[in-house]
Amino acid sequence: MAEARQTVGFIGLGTMGREMAANLLRAGHAVRAYDVVPTAVDALAAQGAVPAASVAEAADGADIVVTMLPDTPQVEEVVYGPDGLLAAPPRGRLVVDMSTIAPQAVRRMHADLAAAGTDLLDAPVSGGPQGARAATLTIMAGGSRTAFDKALPVLRGMGTTITHVGDSGAGQTVKLCNQLICGINLQAICEALALGRACGVDLEQMREVLLGGSAASWMLDRLGPAMISGDAGAGFRIDLMLKDLRLVQELAYGKAVPLPATALVTSQYLDARAHGEGGNGNQALFRVYDRMSGQAEAAKGG
Ligand code: NAD
Repeated sequence: MAEARQTVGFIGLGTMGREMAANLLRAGHAVRAYDVVPTAVDALAAQGAVPAASVAEAADGADIVVTMLPDTPQVEEVVYGPDGLLAAPPRGRLVVDMSTIAPQAVRRMHADLAAAGTDLLDAPVSGGPQGARAATLTIMAGGSRTAFDKALPVLRGMGTTITHVGDSGAGQTVKLCNQLICGINLQAICEALALGRACGVDLEQMREVLLGGSAASWMLDRLGPAMISGDAGAGFRIDLMLKDLRLVQELAYGKAVPLPATALVTSQYLDARAHGEGGNGNQALFRVYDRMSGQAEAAKGG
C-alpha cells in the first residue's frame, strides 16, 4: 500500500541523514532539508529537497521533523535554540529524533516539548550507512503509541524492522544495548583475526567459514573485509562509537549495573583515538591489535 505523502523537515544530513532523507524523497515525501554545513543542504536540494537555512525553516509547514545529529548537545540545540523546535514546532506537532543520544536527555526534551503541545519520538537506528542507503534500517522507537503510528509512514521510507519498544527514552535504551554488543563483538573479531593471522591462516577464508557457523555476526560480515584489507575508511566513526560507549556507561552507572566487558573495549577505543583513529571507521579498532601484537608496521599502507 502506498504511504500518504508527508512533508518532512530533515535536520542533520551527514553520513546517515543524507541517505535517509534521499530515501524519503524516493518514497514520495516532500523534504525540507537543513544542516549547519550548507554544501550538505545543496547536495540534497539537487535531489529534489527544499533547502532550508535554519531549523525553523525546515520545520515550517512540516508534518514531522526528523533529526539525525551527532550527540545529545546538538539535538538539545535544535530543540531549545533560539529558532529551535520548541519555539518553532512543525505544523504536525511531531519530532522524531533518530540520532543516538542519552535516554535521560530524551525524556527531558519529551516533557518540555509535550508541555508546549509537541510530541517527541526517540527512534534511533541500526544498520550503518549501507542500511541507510538501502532503506533497510532497524528502527527502535520510544514514545507514545499515537506518535509511533503517526510517524510510521515516514519511518517505513527509511527502514524495514520498525518496532515500538516502549515509552520515551526506551528506543535509546535498546539502541545503547545494541551498541554494547557491537563494540564487544568487534573486539572479539579483532582477537580472532589477530590470532588467525599470527598462526598463518588465510583470513579471508576464515571469515567466510565463520560466517557459516555460530560465530557469524553483522560486524564480521560488514566490517571484516575492511579489517582484513586494512581499509580504515569512515562509515561509523570511532569517535561516534566512543560517544555511544560513554552513553552506555552513564546509563549503567545510574542503574548500578556492572559492565566489565564494555569498560575494557572502551579502553581499546580510547587507545585507537589516542593514535589518531577517531575519524576512521570502527574496523580501525583492529589497529589496536596490530600494535599490541607487533604487527603495526606490517599493517601500514593498507
Ligand atoms: P555525521 O557526523 O556524519 O552527521 C551529523 C550531521 O549533523 C552533520 O552533517 C553535521 O553537520 C550536522 N549537524 C551537527 N550539528 C548540527 C546542528 N546543530 N544543526 C544542524 N545540523 C547539525 O553523523 P552520522 O554518522 O550521520 O550519525 C548521526 C547519528 O546517527 C549519530 O548519533 C550516530 O551515533 C548515529 N548512527 C550512526 C551510524 C553510522 O554508521 N554512521 C549508524 C547508526 C546510528
